[in-house]
Amino acid sequence: MSRRNNEPLSDRVARAAEAVLAEQHYVSVADVFCGLGWLDASLLQQWRRGQAGTLEEVIRSSLPRISEAMTHVRTWALAKGLTPSEAAYVAQTPRRQPLQFSRGNDPAREALFRTHWVSSELSAKKRKRVAEKASRAPELVAIVPTRDGWSCHRCGGTGDLLMMEDGGPACLSCVGLGDLVFLPAGNALLSRRAKAKSKRHAVVMRFSRTRGRYERQGLLVEPQVLAE
Ligand SMILES: [Zn+2]
Repeated sequence: MSRRNNEPLSDRVARAAEAVLAEQHYVSVADVFCGLGWLDASLLQQWRRGQAGTLEEVIRSSLPRISEAMTHVRTWALAKGLTPSEAAYVAQTPRRQPLQFSRGNDPAREALFRTHWVSSELSAKKRKRVAEKASRAPELVAIVPTRDGWSCHRCGGTGDLLMMEDGGPACLSCVGLGDLVFLPAGNALLSRRAKAKSKRHAVVMRFSRTRGRYERQGLLVEPQVLAE
């Protein structure tokens, strides 16, 4: 057994939590579990896309250990004087269904998972902004296909844009966004307003081979928003 494994869980939790706090000014239980190596970022991402049942199912630890670590996070955060803020967690899908953390769906346990502990060193205004940003629903991403002839894993059709799902690429009609219209990037004010008014929206990205990364092309918004 390595020295690290002999270390009390409370110490390991505190170390992981400190690192997360330094990086993003708030700490959630899920962040700490990633830091402890109990949760893969890719599995967390899958869960956020609504494809993994409950979060507890993808955490590599027993329920009693998970509970113990959650208690340590809370104790650590209270000792540091961090401010609790309950975040909303909805899936990164057009349906935006609420995400479930615990297998038993116990309200108290769900609340512990949803709590973000925000740095007390920030001003009240900044704390509010950090809490809001962390609580914001993850952006839906539509991708410009890099090659022709791709087919939707649901209907077998194709299109100018696709959305990645667990089963493969899906067309916008199948994910329920087929009626949205494209608003090219360029006018920041217009984009911001359209996004705020459009209940359903997605960011359009295209992979740039020369730069080796995805680049933002614009937004998909509801047609009546653009008409206004
Ligand atoms: Zn389809």
